[in-house]
Amino acid sequence: MSHYQKPPELYDGLRLHQNENTGGCSPRVIEALAQIRADQVGFYPPYAKATEKIAAYLGTTPDRIAITNGLDEGIMSLAVAYLRPTVGGPVPEAVVPEPAFEIFRFDTAVAGGTLVQVMPRPDFTFPLEEVLAAIGRNTRVVFLTNPNNPTGIAMPLDAIRAIARRVPKEAIVFVDEAYAEFAGVTFLPEVPDYPNVIVGRTFSKAFGLAGLRIGCLAGTPDALDPIRRAVPVYSVNIAAIAAIQAALDDVDHLREYLRQTAESKALLYAACERLGLKYWPSSANFVLVCTGDRTDALVNGAFARGVYIRDRSTEPGCAGCIRIGTGVVEHTRRCIDVMEEVLCAAQ
Ligand code: PMP
Repeated sequence: MSHYQKPPELYDGLRLHQNENTGGCSPRVIEALAQIRADQVGFYPPYAKATEKIAAYLGTTPDRIAITNGLDEGIMSLAVAYLRPTVGGPVPEAVVPEPAFEIFRFDTAVAGGTLVQVMPRPDFTFPLEEVLAAIGRNTRVVFLTNPNNPTGIAMPLDAIRAIARRVPKEAIVFVDEAYAEFAGVTFLPEVPDYPNVIVGRTFSKAFGLAGLRIGCLAGTPDALDPIRRAVPVYSVNIAAIAAIQAALDDVDHLREYLRQTAESKALLYAACERLGLKYWPSSANFVLVCTGDRTDALVNGAFARGVYIRDRSTEPGCAGCIRIGTGVVEHTRRCIDVMEEVLCAAQ
């Protein structure tokens, strides 16, 4: 498969298949959107205030932030900036420890780079030795995700440090922190000491803004410079600019979602134990569950009952695994009921 296959557009049931915040955004975001004026919509959007606010949230300064139309756009821009072959130069290589967010693979291909996949260990512990061995003189990007998607497993920060020390001087290490709020861990404070590291963040998940598309890259001005050239001007629209400022003001909304995520995961772990299903304890807002030869029955049975969960079987190391969103407790309970019903009916 050479390009991203979007999951079908299913909006009638319970969407636990795309790691979204099924509780939605803060009500303050909706108020802010309602207050956008016609003249604001008529103008290209201003970015300074939102960028300042995002920088403050991330404990950095605006010159170290590039806001993007979702983190997806940040990743594509980074690939274009660092993985595009130059005339007469070597083909840039991207090292990707698997299983990983599929977009890394696809964007590497779009940019014209070569993908160097590092296959997972059976227990999904971070394959540091293997990644270090995969780094070569043509490596230009190492794609890391902390915590990882689809496993939900956090990687040791020491591995990031070791990789950042090992890559060639032209290369960057990308640390995708799309799910960092759930883990409560970030590499951001260390970026000044590791200027070749770029951290990616999104407001789609913990803040529930996926429909508005806003994320950012954080790094040193030098590392961000080639990326800024690749990000389309004004790619973040006025609605997202208004929304992110309101969202960052509502800390309670964020906290409540994080609290429910923790409770949801505990409920799902307990259900998996009752049902005899192996799972990987997750530091994100989803859990990877091994359902083996019951995967199809479970995904299809849940689908028939209006609950969408994602078969991740085709991802390296994930044969017979499904990924289930675990955010809003009520939604998790519904999913567990459906899992129990389907698995008991199948026996
Ligand atoms: N990185 C990872 C690891 C993700 O899982 C996702 C969303 N699925 C993204 C980036 C993209 O996030 P956004 O919605 O901001 O484009």
